[in-house]
Amino acid sequence: MSKVLAVNCGSSSLKFQLFEMDTESVITSGIIERIGMEDSIFTIKYNGTKDKKVFAVPTHKEAVQVLLDTLIEKKIVEHLDEIKGIGHRVVQGGPYFDGSCVVDDDVIAKIDELSPLAPLHNPAHIIGIKAFKEAIPTAGAVVVFDTAFHHSIKPENAVYPIPYKFYEENKIRKYGAHGTSHYYVSKRTQELLGNPEHANIIVCHLGAGASLCAVKDGKSIDTSMGLTPLAGVMMATRSGDIDASVVDHLIENLGYDMKTVFKMLNKESGLLGVSGVSGDMRDIIDAKDAGNQRAELAFNMFRKRVADYIGSYFVELGHVDAISFTAGIGENSFIAREAIIDLIKEALGIVLDDKANVEGHGERLISAPESKIKVFVIPTDEELVIARDTKELLNL
Ligand code: ADP
Repeated sequence: MSKVLAVNCGSSSLKFQLFEMDTESVITSGIIERIGMEDSIFTIKYNGTKDKKVFAVPTHKEAVQVLLDTLIEKKIVEHLDEIKGIGHRVVQGGPYFDGSCVVDDDVIAKIDELSPLAPLHNPAHIIGIKAFKEAIPTAGAVVVFDTAFHHSIKPENAVYPIPYKFYEENKIRKYGAHGTSHYYVSKRTQELLGNPEHANIIVCHLGAGASLCAVKDGKSIDTSMGLTPLAGVMMATRSGDIDASVVDHLIENLGYDMKTVFKMLNKESGLLGVSGVSGDMRDIIDAKDAGNQRAELAFNMFRKRVADYIGSYFVELGHVDAISFTAGIGENSFIAREAIIDLIKEALGIVLDDKANVEGHGERLISAPESKIKVFVIPTDEELVIARDTKELLNL
């Protein structure tokens, strides 16, 4: 029996899922949030129960210790060395990593070197990797990159139309994100299509962060996020694509500084910025239904931008077998799915099965038999991909 822990160290959080790999079942899962604050929140689910505690967890190192102590205390594991592998999610793998790999000093150095491209995440990942290594020296460590799946994107879709030296010398290009999710969802979609030899799929990962991916025969050929996860469609609080001159105008003519502008683009824009109500799609839909016009505008802008990417990927792929929705909005909001499909259904010949879209639960087909493109809802499972890669690379 081999146990593998899938870990996601964010800037102020540590998410975890412990798997029994023989059955791929989740033994326990949870999150430590607000690390570094007086009122950190530790939530853990196991044996059908959920515990939540609020106390100070000053650093990621302490968060790792709290988690491991709890696993023993609650008898979720008897000894920590039952955990044979730790799989770490890493946001930015840059040009170096086209797949998951076993951690060594060189891997850590490269993740560190890429920190300027993911300043909130890569440093936290390294702290997590080191803290787990110290706490369970017997466990192997694997890193799984959000960017790896997009390595197959060709230069014509990845290089920015700015002087070439920035691509060549400074590695400035599209790296994308959500790769683990796009990989999992496109693979599941391909299985649900009956594993045809060729399959063109568009994945819409619509959560607080949102990105789309065009997948051809199992490979990402384009994705909407860019050098960083700020690009692409409009998101909960991120702007997505805008004219870069907006930044210059805000700084040169309106007196803002660069830091404030980027905070605004990352944290105060998107659904929240346009509506003034919230970045949560549930609040946007409620406010729009109650007659709030800015919430309606935000909703319409969001669906339009998602539809625009689907249209462009449809043209790029030439033929599309399936469109799959995933993540918080994609999995849970039949209203958002219907609103997006509404904008493209005539052009692409899509017919939704309203009952399956509205009333169904979990993984399912939501298009009608006569639809030219199948539409699926596929709950994503990035942790399972991380655990599987960890098991495979460590030969567990
Ligand atoms: P992330 O991982 O990027 O933080 P998630 O994939 O967990 O985000 O998605 C979270 C978002 O999903 C919430 O902010 C909310 O907007 C949206 N969401 C969750 N449930 C629903 C729902 N029933 N209807 C509409 N939106 C929902």
